[in-house]
Amino acid sequence: MASLIHAAKGVTTPARLAPQKIHSIVVAPLSGESPKGGWSAEIKPADSVHALIAVHTQDGLTGYGSVFADGRLVQAAVDVLEPLFAGEDALQPERVTEKLHQNTFWMGRGGSLTHAISGIDIALWDILGQTVGLPISQLLGGSYRSRVQPYCSLLMEEPAKMRDTLAVYSERDGFRAFKIGWGPFGRALDTRLDEAIIRAARDAVGEDSKLFVDAGACDAHWPHGLKWAMRTADMLAGYGVDWFEEPLRPDSIDDYCHLRRVSRVPIAGGEVLTRRQTFLPWLSRGAFDIVQPDVTKVGGLSEQRRIAWMADDFDVRYVGHGWNTGVGVAADLQMAAAFPHVDYVEFIGGSAYVDGILSEPFVIDAQGYLAIPDRPGLGVALDRDKIARYSPNAAALFSV
Ligand SMILES: [Mg+2]
Repeated sequence: MASLIHAAKGVTTPARLAPQKIHSIVVAPLSGESPKGGWSAEIKPADSVHALIAVHTQDGLTGYGSVFADGRLVQAAVDVLEPLFAGEDALQPERVTEKLHQNTFWMGRGGSLTHAISGIDIALWDILGQTVGLPISQLLGGSYRSRVQPYCSLLMEEPAKMRDTLAVYSERDGFRAFKIGWGPFGRALDTRLDEAIIRAARDAVGEDSKLFVDAGACDAHWPHGLKWAMRTADMLAGYGVDWFEEPLRPDSIDDYCHLRRVSRVPIAGGEVLTRRQTFLPWLSRGAFDIVQPDVTKVGGLSEQRRIAWMADDFDVRYVGHGWNTGVGVAADLQMAAAFPHVDYVEFIGGSAYVDGILSEPFVIDAQGYLAIPDRPGLGVALDRDKIARYSPNAAALFSV
């Protein structure tokens, strides 16, 4: 009926985009410069915890994604998913990604398969953006901003070293927001040391900079519970800390809800959750002031945007956690443009897998902000020679 009405009014039905059939998906695990994560079972530089993904189409287009997982798991997941994505249309990211989710629920939904699908999804959005000549933010519905403040993410150190490290990133790199986390905080079982670190950090960054604190309680065998988190939140409030991240074990939803109600410092978390369905009880029950889904784990941009809008409906702030590679940061920047209340993106300066894989590294401006790329797709270009330093599979990212 609709087509008859259009015909009667002389309206021409727009042509559909010609399908871009997926030819292959390449996995390039990154290793050699893997930064410390602060975990009690610390990784080594040679360990693989991040992988780049390239989706090649039969007509020669390529899109890129990033996955937070051991590269061997990502490769195995892509092998398992291959019958589901082979020949699919790369210009339909949300439908294709949902197909991958729906057909693998029985194989461990939310785990490494979901992480791997994240990279595929980001790459499909990149291809769609390149094809129509628009940045992903516009495909997500529109752009609220052209730049966003990166916060500098650093591992905690003993007080004197913490002060020196923060001073370097503040004065040399121009950051005006900082997050310190993991390391001895909470793990040394010394509350005076915890407070001394925070005092040193506030001294170093000054009263005008933002300071966030990440307990990192998703680490193995986190030794504290609700009472520690409540006392520590009180201490942090005295130093003007702007959020307290992962103060409790990652499954302690009841304690998170209680802590959020009593804490003067906003409570943040969610970086180890995956799938939009998992976020729903955490958001609807009021576990977080700030939710931090990781676009390289949760299912990609298709899932991340639904989580971010769901958070907005529950008056929870969204801050992305895809900071571990240049491609993850690029995806976070597109998300930051497309949502009304995004204040920050997580960032680490000088990281091999962030600045060291792009043709043009990110630049922080004089006000401490990052420009959001407005070129088609993710808006960043990968550098083949630079990536070859970290992945023997670099060449396959660039050619079929
Ligand atoms: Mg964290």
